[in-house]
Amino acid sequence: MESGTILHEIMTFNETFVKNREYEKYETTKYPNKKMVILTCMDTRLLELLPKALNLGNGDAKLVKNAGAIVSHPFGSIMRSILIAVYELQAQEVLVIAHYDCGMSGLKAEPVLEHMKEQGITDETLNTLAFSGIDIKGWLHGFDSVTDSVKHSVDIIKQHPLMPKGVPVHGLVIDPKTGRLDLIVDGYQNQ
Ligand SMILES: [Zn+2]
Repeated sequence: MESGTILHEIMTFNETFVKNREYEKYETTKYPNKKMVILTCMDTRLLELLPKALNLGNGDAKLVKNAGAIVSHPFGSIMRSILIAVYELQAQEVLVIAHYDCGMSGLKAEPVLEHMKEQGITDETLNTLAFSGIDIKGWLHGFDSVTDSVKHSVDIIKQHPLMPKGVPVHGLVIDPKTGRLDLIVDGYQNQ
């Protein structure tokens, strides 16, 4: 889609969508019918495939997304979202669903930093961040093994000091082409 047209097309479509009351078939509540929260990747291939492959309709689950389905910080916004889902929105199980062929797999910081420089980010800015104690390279680094990454995120959630005991935390990897799920961590074990 051409730059400068995306927002316009969305707004035009949206007006018709609302006018035709097309929202009616999606009406539900903020509480997940299937009582779960899912952390998954922002990958475009999962936008519709993941809910279909898990038999999820509108209203069935809380869905949290980021690059790689990674919980990288125990007190970041991803972990906060999961805790809010559990304490305030009736989620009773947590699923971490990463996927094969993820953009975060094998991602190195160096090429990303190069692309930043190409788009006008200066060495001065990067140096200032480094002097402030921010580990940009570590922060931008992806993961080397998707199964290890899932296990690591499951561990952070499971062992979080604010996560109530008895909430199963499952770890899975989905095939972004077929939707096949591989179970990595069965959260019903070792509760
Ligand atoms: Zn991904």
